[in-house]
Amino acid sequence: MRQAPNAGQRGLLPVILMLFLGGCGGDRPESGTQATADDPVVVYSARAEQLIRPIFDAYTAETGVPIRYTTDSEQPLIQKLLAEGETTPADLLLTVDAGNLWYAAQQGALRPTDSELLESNIPAHLRDPDGLWFGLSVRARTIVYDTRDVDPSELTDYKGLADEKWRGKLCLRTSEKVYNQSLVAMLIADYGEEQTEKTVRGWVANLATDVFSNDTSLIEAIAAGQCDVGIVNTYYFARLQKEKPDIPVAIFWPAAETGGVHVNISGAGVTRHAGNAEGARALLEWMSSEAAQKLFGGENMEYPANPAVEAHPLVAAWGPFEPSPMNVAQAGAYQADAVRLMDRAGYR
Ligand code: FE
Repeated sequence: MRQAPNAGQRGLLPVILMLFLGGCGGDRPESGTQATADDPVVVYSARAEQLIRPIFDAYTAETGVPIRYTTDSEQPLIQKLLAEGETTPADLLLTVDAGNLWYAAQQGALRPTDSELLESNIPAHLRDPDGLWFGLSVRARTIVYDTRDVDPSELTDYKGLADEKWRGKLCLRTSEKVYNQSLVAMLIADYGEEQTEKTVRGWVANLATDVFSNDTSLIEAIAAGQCDVGIVNTYYFARLQKEKPDIPVAIFWPAAETGGVHVNISGAGVTRHAGNAEGARALLEWMSSEAAQKLFGGENMEYPANPAVEAHPLVAAWGPFEPSPMNVAQAGAYQADAVRLMDRAGYR
């Protein structure tokens, strides 16, 4: 769904804005002029429209600053941003998965943002060390199990699912999904390639059935008795549990001593060629605030990135967990290695 200015609309924008702003400028400043705090902010978003629109509406209602946005899948959106270069209308890139933000930063599509507010609202492991991007919600990818067949004392961590006691009992989503690439990348960063390859080979040997195309059908397969254990993002489980409170599946949190819970983020960074970098920074800061964080994570049953904000009650009821302390940027740094390793290990 595209809502940001397309080529045709862009031509009209300066005219509309001149009327609106009393002739003080177009939707992006000409080179040499400064955008003002009230200028519109243009966002490229790989986060779904129904999740971001309430947030943008709230921002506009509070500040009067209009937001224009384009939504698409992450790769086309990042490629568009790169292809547009200096002419891009985008001020902010918003996407899921640290691997994608890392890639955009690596390609030079983002610029550093120096903000004490962002640094205090967002824990260091959830943002780029150089300020190129900031996590705004936390997505925990953890173990789920069949409460009828599994005693949680049998579970340890991601490596433990390679143990032969789970032969024929494990369900996994496809390795093509970036979530699993990031998980394996983080395992490489934690344990090294050799140990991680052993783990992934063990997972493959333990599969109950073909890999799944999404997390929801994987959880449903556990509920249907097709497998006993699996690895999923918790917000998918939250949605199912909301619909079916008696679903015989539960969450297991790997302990801090064994590396903690694999977390990823959705987040955003100011684009390198932002015409309104100030406006983008202000929006980013606002999205990290307590009020916006409730909306940001809550809509999708994710965890807020700002630790001062509580998760949705259904999510909070699963109890606290210890996230991996490693910076989520590692998911990007080891992603190519992870893809090669999963291929070698026969994880499809
Ligand atoms: Fe997802």
